[in-house]
Amino acid sequence: MDIIKELSQVIKISCTSDAIRLFDAMFRKINFSTEILSFNGVDNLYAFRSSALANRASALVSRTSAPVNSAFESEACASASEAHASALVNRTLLFLGHADVVPVGAGWTRRQGYLADGCVWGRGAVDMKGAIVCFIEALKRNPEGNVAVIISGDEEGTAEFGTPAVLAHLQSERRMPHVDFALIGEPTSSSYIGDSVKVGCRGSLNVSATAHGSAGHVAYPQFTKNAATAVIQFLNHVDAHMRTVHAGDCHLEITSVVADSGATNVVPAIARGGFNIRFTKHTSAEQLEAEITQIAGQYCGVEVAYEVACRPFECGFDGEGQGGWPKEGQGGCLYGSNGDRVALNENMNDLANEYSVGLANENNNGLLAKLVASVRAATGKYPSITTTGANSDAKFVRAISSFAELGLRYKTAHQVDEHVAVSDLYELIEIYAKFLSDFFINTGY
Ligand SMILES: [Zn+2]
Repeated sequence: MDIIKELSQVIKISCTSDAIRLFDAMFRKINFSTEILSFNGVDNLYAFRSSALANRASALVSRTSAPVNSAFESEACASASEAHASALVNRTLLFLGHADVVPVGAGWTRRQGYLADGCVWGRGAVDMKGAIVCFIEALKRNPEGNVAVIISGDEEGTAEFGTPAVLAHLQSERRMPHVDFALIGEPTSSSYIGDSVKVGCRGSLNVSATAHGSAGHVAYPQFTKNAATAVIQFLNHVDAHMRTVHAGDCHLEITSVVADSGATNVVPAIARGGFNIRFTKHTSAEQLEAEITQIAGQYCGVEVAYEVACRPFECGFDGEGQGGWPKEGQGGCLYGSNGDRVALNENMNDLANEYSVGLANENNNGLLAKLVASVRAATGKYPSITTTGANSDAKFVRAISSFAELGLRYKTAHQVDEHVAVSDLYELIEIYAKFLSDFFINTGY
């Protein structure tokens, strides 16, 4: 079946368990062993394909008849032959996706799964049923090599009974394969497919502030202390602090402001404000908390409470506050063979050579380099390496494998009229297919 029709069909299925079953059928059709693992009523799909080295060797040899059009590819594949089979390595790729979606909501101009204007419309088109369909299509073009797939039924929710439960279950039964690299199909692209690859996640700090004032008549401010004013001024101060002192590293969004004296002529005695800060590894939750507490001290009666929802993590880094990948808007920055960071300017094409050297010898066996090379081969451009955007299931695989997120364009994710251009789907298929075809070749990184 045409992938456009497949995507349309799976978008029309709003029930997550039914969508999981349709994906199950799709993976069985391309010779994966599959099982549906249910935890607390949440269905998830685990699919696995393993193939003998000899099969992959012959598949690779036959593939070399394809035209070679990239500097990376020419080095990796151009001389593939019978002898080249020894360069094959027994790796396993893990692909993560999710079949659940956020609620459709009201106000759509198109029906779910509708095809129009060169796009497929509907909830999950980009986040992320579309990427799963693309990966399946890429697998059809690359029928050899060990690939494990987890399609979670609980990513947009608590995420408790999805990917982490599947991983724990496989580990408890001692049948979790050794994973060399995890590819997560979340939407990471901005202007065009493959323009950014996500290699980590920012931290998330929730802060709630409570101001205690004293109520009284609005006409006699000398006898009152306005809690609402204190909270608003405090929020403004912290917001300005993040924009200046932590420019490029921290982003603050106010999520609630609550104060109501109950009358138009009474000053409120209590007010509350809440905000969330997303922060990179260039700072830490403890550092931010210390600064915010210090600011709160300048506003009489403001008390603050903190909850670290998530600590920042990045592929290739351990712990918090240890430098990390580049700040937003500063181009790429990767590790060289001597451990030094290789800085890149905005126009990465000018630094192609340095870029490839920087990715080589990375502590992921060069597999991140392969992904970057695949993007380059399929799109003609290098991706930027980022840690922006939302949290994903990457946090559950970071302990077992190096990883990266690469998927469709995120612009319409979670929005009314979510849609994906058909041309975007084909571009993502090209990137995924290129990555799969090179993944099992040892290029000597
Ligand atoms: Zn998603």
